[in-house]
Amino acid sequence: MSLDQSWFTESDDNTGLAFSLKLGQPVHSETTPYQTIGIYRTETFGYLMTIDGCTMVSTRDNFLYHEMMSHPVLNSHPAPKRVVIVGGGDCGTLREVLKHPEVESAVQVEIDERVTRLSEQYFPELCESNEDPRAELYFGDGIQWMKDAPAKSIDVLIIDSTDPIGPAEGLFGKRFYADCIKALKADGILVHQSESPLLHLELITAMHRAMRDSGFAQTQLLHFPQTIYPSGWWSASLACKSGEPLAQRLDEAAIAALNCRYYSAAIHRGAFALPPFVEQALKGL
Ligand code: SAM
Repeated sequence: MSLDQSWFTESDDNTGLAFSLKLGQPVHSETTPYQTIGIYRTETFGYLMTIDGCTMVSTRDNFLYHEMMSHPVLNSHPAPKRVVIVGGGDCGTLREVLKHPEVESAVQVEIDERVTRLSEQYFPELCESNEDPRAELYFGDGIQWMKDAPAKSIDVLIIDSTDPIGPAEGLFGKRFYADCIKALKADGILVHQSESPLLHLELITAMHRAMRDSGFAQTQLLHFPQTIYPSGWWSASLACKSGEPLAQRLDEAAIAALNCRYYSAAIHRGAFALPPFVEQALKGL
């Protein structure tokens, strides 16, 4: 079937893969000092935000990503009080983080203020916790912010970044992870979105190697479905300063209070179960 202008298509020559969404109409496009942001109205996925031609967020399926970038890591930490999100300008991860009553402060460090302003306009439901007194929106480069962060000041660090190109490239390297280690407390945990286990396994193993080489004692992968991202299957990588087993705070009542659509105690357990081909790739790093 040939696709015309009434479809948004993200295609990738490296993977030989394309994904399309049927559009109502393009709503907005602008080029900021960092990237080109597109907003579309789709026929079946609500609004869609793209950055540099890559799908970022849709109204219909963003809950999968935002819930899985926040709740598994927060429920793996014994007392996540101070949380930092690098990137995440659509504010969906921030909203999920602030559902945890034990979180005392959460700062979102986003390089491009326009991502947040457009999200306020087209994805207001993702921004509904921005006025929470515990929330701080900081606009600037996460790499520099992390260099300057006070030592041992953060419990949970969520890297909700774009792909490792453009302004996000430096967020995937050893130097950045070393700054994260310095800023995390002794029982601190980092989680970084790590692309598709099917398409980007080399990147995932390189990330885990970089995390361990920079001094993290252990790394773990979790995975979840994500319709609008290449292959429809996505992952996040955890890195812990301590080699101790992760806390598993899977209190059913507390999880029900989060009011999630995808995340549950059973999903938490299942998300860390790896298919043999992924386990094999990560073995012996
Ligand atoms: N869920 C998305 C994905 O996996 O494709 C990521 C969404 S979020 C919109 C990614 C954000 O990271 C973007 O808004 C981008 O501006 C931000 N970003 C990229 N590089 C950054 C940096 N160096 N510091 C802070 N934010 C950065």
